Amino acid sequence: MFVNTEKKYIWKNSSFHKWDDTNIHILSHTLHYGTGVFEGVRAYMTNKGPAIFRLHDHTKRLFGAASKISLKIPFSENELNKAQCDTLNKNDLKEGYLRPIVYLGNEGLGLRAKDLSVNVAIAAWEWPSYMDPEAKKNGISVIKSSHKQYENPLHSGNKIIGTYFSNTMALHEALDNGADEAIMLDKNGYISEGSGENVFIVKNQTIFTPTPENCLNGITRQSVIQIAKDLKMQIYEKNIDYDDLLNADEAFFTGTAVEITPITIVDNKPVNNGKRGNITKELQDKFQQIISGEDSSYESWLTYTN
Ligand code: PMP
Repeated sequence: MFVNTEKKYIWKNSSFHKWDDTNIHILSHTLHYGTGVFEGVRAYMTNKGPAIFRLHDHTKRLFGAASKISLKIPFSENELNKAQCDTLNKNDLKEGYLRPIVYLGNEGLGLRAKDLSVNVAIAAWEWPSYMDPEAKKNGISVIKSSHKQYENPLHSGNKIIGTYFSNTMALHEALDNGADEAIMLDKNGYISEGSGENVFIVKNQTIFTPTPENCLNGITRQSVIQIAKDLKMQIYEKNIDYDDLLNADEAFFTGTAVEITPITIVDNKPVNNGKRGNITKELQDKFQQIISGEDSSYESWLTYTN
């Protein structure tokens, strides 16, 4: 993702800095050992102005992940919520992607991370579509990854920097093999997730998604489960075999970046007829109404930035 950074600012430890000048020291503990946490958050334009989708939930997850690796964030959740709104406004963004990151300083060298400063930065940029813009309609292709999601048990449920190594490897493997994304399996051989997405399948009008024990409990995942229930669809969390995906009527990914994106090809074979399914489309349409503020019953999921 390349961004025109000339007029952009990054929030760092309470003040704004020019994008190109917001650097970390080469000896930051996080750079060497992956000791940090991050979030991926999106803002959308609504008829009441720009709003961040489920901001409070994202910030809560950031703090949860930080506490898993004993990082004490020197700000409150409210302060970081406000900082994320401020970052969008400062960059004059009506819509976009936000990347808060918590990382350790370089006051001491070596593995011992005691007494290092805990720093927070927030960047924001335009990000209309993560995949090919047509992907929402036509779907994307996946392959089964040789990387397993249990390679680092701390990963599950947390956005901890170091644990993303296997996800990156899985995505690169997929891209090298001509697919758009990877499907990673969990320690029991069931479907876990994509490199940065949760997986859903539809069979006989019923929706299934893996239980969150062995994948990130994505905020989009939780939203889609709620939306499906509200639409009176049948939806269950359960272990999903890879064959269930191969034989699904529909399949789709969810995530802040991909939103709801159909999976139409698995291991070079079409899912059903290879076209986006009706349930996927219905969920996409409702999700679109919600993020654009058109469905006021989900208003609590939106935080207006000014
Ligand atoms: N799984 C992984 C590994 C992820 O990195 C993400 C992106 N945060 C997701 C699933 C989807 O989570 P969310 O809907 O909260 O973006």
